[in-house]
Amino acid sequence: MITFTDEEMHYFMGECAYIAMQNAQYWPKVGAVVVKKGSVVGRGYSGHIDGTRLPLHAERMALDDAGRQAKGAALFTTLEPCTKISQNQLLGSCCDYIAEQGIDTVVFGMLDEHSHGFCPGEGIAKLQSHGIYVVQYAKLNTLMEEKLSKPLTDRTVVRKWVNRR
Ligand SMILES: [Zn+2]
Repeated sequence: MITFTDEEMHYFMGECAYIAMQNAQYWPKVGAVVVKKGSVVGRGYSGHIDGTRLPLHAERMALDDAGRQAKGAALFTTLEPCTKISQNQLLGSCCDYIAEQGIDTVVFGMLDEHSHGFCPGEGIAKLQSHGIYVVQYAKLNTLMEEKLSKPLTDRTVVRKWVNRR
């Protein structure tokens, strides 16, 4: 288990929120960072596999960016990682990938209330089943809810977003 002070959690979760706001390519906007020995060694956001339109989740992008440094590190993410809902047909869930890459501790901001067929808390349970220590850092939630998932909490926008697909 890797522990962080309140100030450190605020800092790294702020980094995640900033990355999401600057770069995310779809809703919900998610940002993630891999932290090793107090430093950010990987960054990710809701994006796409290079040269395709296939979604690539923030957690996986951050883990790939960190490479081998992900082993034994902490992963911060604005949103609870996905379980059975995979980001696309080629890649598995973020929870499984987080475990495969040897992440020790996951700090997340918001529970996933928006994904279809997904119950909030499933990601936490899945990570814990892999022996990963999971912490929720909720202090930025008001900011994150507003900036990162607002369209998904507004039913009118959700309908437009679904119809566009
Ligand atoms: Zn995911």
